[in-house]
Amino acid sequence: MALIVHKYGGTSMGSTERIRNVAKRVAKWARAGHQMVVVPSAMSGETNRLLALAKDVSPAAQTPAMLRELDAIACTGEQVSVGLLSLALQAEGMEAVSYAGWQVPIKTDSSYTKARIQSIDDVRVRADLAAGKVVIITGFQGVDEEQNITTLGRGGSDTSAVAVAAAMKADECLIYTDVDGVYTTDPRVVPEARRLHTVSFEEMLEMASLGSKVLQIRSVEFAGKYRVPLRVLSSFTPWDINIEEEAKSGTLITFEEDEKMEQAVVSGIAFNRDEAKVTVLGVPDKPGIAYGILGKVAAANIDVDVIIQNVSREGRTDFSFTVHRNDYQRTLDLLKTEVLPALGANEVIGDAKICKVSIVGIGMRSHVGVASKMFEALSAENINIQMITTSEIKTSVVIDEKYMELAVRALHRAFDLDA
Ligand code: ASP
Ligand code: MG
Repeated sequence: MALIVHKYGGTSMGSTERIRNVAKRVAKWARAGHQMVVVPSAMSGETNRLLALAKDVSPAAQTPAMLRELDAIACTGEQVSVGLLSLALQAEGMEAVSYAGWQVPIKTDSSYTKARIQSIDDVRVRADLAAGKVVIITGFQGVDEEQNITTLGRGGSDTSAVAVAAAMKADECLIYTDVDGVYTTDPRVVPEARRLHTVSFEEMLEMASLGSKVLQIRSVEFAGKYRVPLRVLSSFTPWDINIEEEAKSGTLITFEEDEKMEQAVVSGIAFNRDEAKVTVLGVPDKPGIAYGILGKVAAANIDVDVIIQNVSREGRTDFSFTVHRNDYQRTLDLLKTEVLPALGANEVIGDAKICKVSIVGIGMRSHVGVASKMFEALSAENINIQMITTSEIKTSVVIDEKYMELAVRALHRAFDLDA
């Protein structure tokens, strides 16, 4: 007998018929002798619908008092899900009980709309499991010290599930979703993309932060910190698929590197179009300019990703960096009004039509020439590289957005990832 956490995404919970299917699958696992905790998302589209209602009433909810209400509204989608799933399980003849985050409780800090989990009390859940019940806990929501309801940010149910699995020392956390695992790249861009049977936790972390949307990045961080065995698999297999077969399907996130070392140097190609580039031209090249520019940006709560400073000519240099596209206009305005006059720079320019393409693989640690192979593949396609950034296990380039698909396909081929 094992303690298993299942997480079901919005699509898997998308209709009452699908919820009945989830119940049948969960019941199958429980009948095989496992203790089951299930963490579902809201039915697909529901969180968007709820937030649109809020926006309609108050277009610019920004103050903490307003964000508090956004969370009170957004969390209700999951509350409906857990109740429906519990009913569906009971209709299957199982004993089941649902809980909202505050009932467990799942305690978080008070940063509404992006709260962080601080602790999970597992006493109540354990008692239910011991009594033979399936326990269903809302994803996405928690409660702060003052009993205010919080949510964990969009896609936060993944993090709820992994956190519950960590707190309960579950034997495995299975993330059921609308894809059947983690792929070498997005199959919509490269039809030859392959499903990975295993991916290391570090690679998964890079891929999540680089824009692969399979798992919320915080859930991967949680899995790494607490070493939660995590598997991503499809919720669209027939619910009565053989359980041993099901338990081995999808992609397992591993913590063993040696095993992986034998495999491909590059495990995946990630890409995103979420960033924009800004450049401050003709900044006097002297100590303190990076701080003079990025300090202001950080103070405005804008995240910076790739940074590049050119060699200086005649005492002046150009300084470029990327930000999220949602912050693009704000960053340009800030640079023009505050940074340019303060530093005596010449001009601020920007480009929102860029994309970032990255190769990821822990094999890069032990192999040389991986980045140059990447550059070779891009040059063969005549793609100009605007910025480069590397870490131990990834290399990213910023290129013109219109070459994104071409670049991803070329790299997928160059690193032998095509099926
Ligand atoms: N329902 C929430 C959202 O749509 C949380 C989740 O699905 O993970 O973001
Ligand atoms: Mg999701």
